[in-house]
Amino acid sequence: MPKKMHIESLSTKLPIPLFDSVMATALLSMGTEYAGLTNVAQYSSLANTFLLAVWLSSSIPYFIESNFAKRINFQKQFGADIKTLQQQSLGERFEEIEKLTEKLNDEYLPQDYERKELAKLVNKELEDYLESITGVRVETSDRIRNFGIVKMLMPFALGACQPIDGEIYIFKDMGVFEPHVITHELAHRHGYGKELHAQALAYLALMNSKNPVFMQSANCERLKRQIGVVNYEDRRSAREFTENLDLRAELRGDFLRLMKRPGIYERVVSLAMLPVYSLRMKLTGQNGLKDYGEGFTNFLHTIGNKV
Ligand SMILES: [Zn+2]
Repeated sequence: MPKKMHIESLSTKLPIPLFDSVMATALLSMGTEYAGLTNVAQYSSLANTFLLAVWLSSSIPYFIESNFAKRINFQKQFGADIKTLQQQSLGERFEEIEKLTEKLNDEYLPQDYERKELAKLVNKELEDYLESITGVRVETSDRIRNFGIVKMLMPFALGACQPIDGEIYIFKDMGVFEPHVITHELAHRHGYGKELHAQALAYLALMNSKNPVFMQSANCERLKRQIGVVNYEDRRSAREFTENLDLRAELRGDFLRLMKRPGIYERVVSLAMLPVYSLRMKLTGQNGLKDYGEGFTNFLHTIGNKV
């Protein structure tokens, strides 16, 4: 196994992601067919087939390399993994919420990195952290897309990483949460496809960075997830809980923005997509959507990671 490798798909190097080009030509082909523009429909259908072939064939090397690069064995390294988590009690969770709130209030710093610069910095932190454990330096691109067709399919997500080609999309301005969300998606690009693994690696790499803005982001994610768990993942209760929490105004604003009542499109698509998404997680050896919050906080609890 080489001590250093670079994994990146062709799509990540292009101005528009290949998946988006495939979807756009498919939609164009269907639309023009429906409108009776047979010639345009034929050309766009041909372009669609060509782009699909390019997308799939060019993604294969990235897909193989990212899945076969030397990976952390969570059970061996941390003594905890998706199926061996200890349940943190409700009392311990409330205690952690209190401690995190106090800590974040006392140590607050504005998060004003520009997204491109931020992605570069946190990617380096993640790569340093992974290398410190595996002994192999796996480098990938830090390119982040701000828009993609994936957003229409997953309006409930803050960001996404396309598993086939590793394209990363960040959809919203997330303020203090941004370093954590970007690192989570970069962990996927590094081949850690499971949500609990991406959550844990992002948290640990950012805490390991000793950069106070990155550490703050990791702890904001931990607090937000604890708030979700003690409110049984009910967004309205979580919002009310956060409004009554003694968080300083700058932080509370960012927390509440992510807990806003979803719009009609998001509610309709979520109703259809979330069960499918949860099922996909279970079929790939995960516990389902609860891995993001309950699983992640149980993981930190199991490995004895204190606030
Ligand atoms: Zn994820």
